[in-house]
Amino acid sequence: MEAGWKTIIEPFKIKSVEPLGFTTRGEREKALRDADYNLFSIPADKVLIDLLTDSGTSAMSAEQWAAIMRGDESYAGARSFYELERTVRDLTGLRYVMPVHQGRAAERVLFSVAGGKGKVVLSNSHFDTTRANVEASGAEAIDLPVPEALDFASPGDFKGDIDLRALEEKLRELGAARVSMIVMTLTNNSLGGQPVSMANLRATAEIAKHYRVPLFLDIARFAENAWFIKRREAGYATRPVREIVREIFSYADGCWMSAKKDAFVNIGGFLALNDEKWMNEARETLILGEGFTTYGGLAGRDLEAMSVGLREVLDEHYLEYRIRSIEYLGDGLRKAGVPIVEPPGGHAVYLDATRLLPHIKPEGYPAQALACELYLTAGVRSVEIGSLMFGRRAGEVFIPARMELVRLAIPRRVYTQSHVDFLIEVVADVAKRAKTIRPLRLVSASPRLAHFTAKLAPEVLA
Ligand SMILES: *Cc1c(COP(=O)(O)O)cnc(C)c1O
Repeated sequence: MEAGWKTIIEPFKIKSVEPLGFTTRGEREKALRDADYNLFSIPADKVLIDLLTDSGTSAMSAEQWAAIMRGDESYAGARSFYELERTVRDLTGLRYVMPVHQGRAAERVLFSVAGGKGKVVLSNSHFDTTRANVEASGAEAIDLPVPEALDFASPGDFKGDIDLRALEEKLRELGAARVSMIVMTLTNNSLGGQPVSMANLRATAEIAKHYRVPLFLDIARFAENAWFIKRREAGYATRPVREIVREIFSYADGCWMSAKKDAFVNIGGFLALNDEKWMNEARETLILGEGFTTYGGLAGRDLEAMSVGLREVLDEHYLEYRIRSIEYLGDGLRKAGVPIVEPPGGHAVYLDATRLLPHIKPEGYPAQALACELYLTAGVRSVEIGSLMFGRRAGEVFIPARMELVRLAIPRRVYTQSHVDFLIEVVADVAKRAKTIRPLRLVSASPRLAHFTAKLAPEVLA
């Protein structure tokens, strides 16, 4: 459409609808008690607006549902595989394509080949499953974000960048032979969904080439990243997203994707790379744990829907709406005086509980307390990214996380602007009563994956 209109609209109409889970305050109080104040344990039908994650929660398009019917369920060599292979090769220019059931399966397979004891992986920031898979292989995962990435109040166009000087230092210090790869996560999920600039990616590729270390991209949100480049980086404003994406992949020796993000599917992913030896080894691991090489743990119909999604996400009307809808939420919260991580990322807005709840120390899990209050107030489900997720508990010693955030992740094509307006109203209401929010106490947690299994209770004040 011609430019110039102020209002950016949802670039779709709705064909199929699902009711929201309305509840009473009493029902939510009971649900929260029954869940031991862990929002992962709340049944989804007791949630009104579910912002737990943008992963696998997208609305598929009519074309994707049609593709589901076209799925070829042959065990080997299904037409749906060749279609996906063609789509991924067109998109990335990479030679070998392997479907997997989701991103972490690609990581497990890749690092079983490329990781191992004594090896190191360097990244702008490893996503948590990436780090876990690097470490499970015996290798070490090192994050080298730019320093401003950790300053949540300061705006910045490309806070997802890697620290180039730190990267070179590490390569010299460790010796390139120990570094099995450099991984750039697009967008940087662990640090606010912030984008990586093309300039930073290009410079990283030059360094990688100089030291002869492969450069891999973790591309769960590559299209959102490309849109930020178009909007924020000099020289890209008039370039089609498709071309920007092509340039991004021109720097990569390989990539993997959780297709549950930018490919709009409810399950799926892939690994793509150029090195034949790595791919042959990876295929053996895949067959052992996931399935044959042409389906990788998915049904043929999932492969079809993924191919369609990978093409749809490059639609610039969609990307403009997508990024604008997150900004719109950020604008509303900022106007209401709610402290957020600046600037809003590509898939989520993060509330800063450290600044909103200064009366709750990390030991009282301020971000989890805030997330619970959002649920109690209006059935909004979010996720804590703070001391419950990253804090360490060793006996009596408590080591807090370096941030206390609540992530409001926005599923793709699912909620409309009035849902977002409602959300702004709810968060603003909770923020006004912030002083009355009480700390939580950890009742029990398993040593690993505490975030998913923890039980908490309101702190009883003496
Ligand atoms: C979600 C995600 C993964 C893991 O993918 P799953 O599909 O959840 O297994 C890896 N990296 C990034 C950046 C992600 O956002």
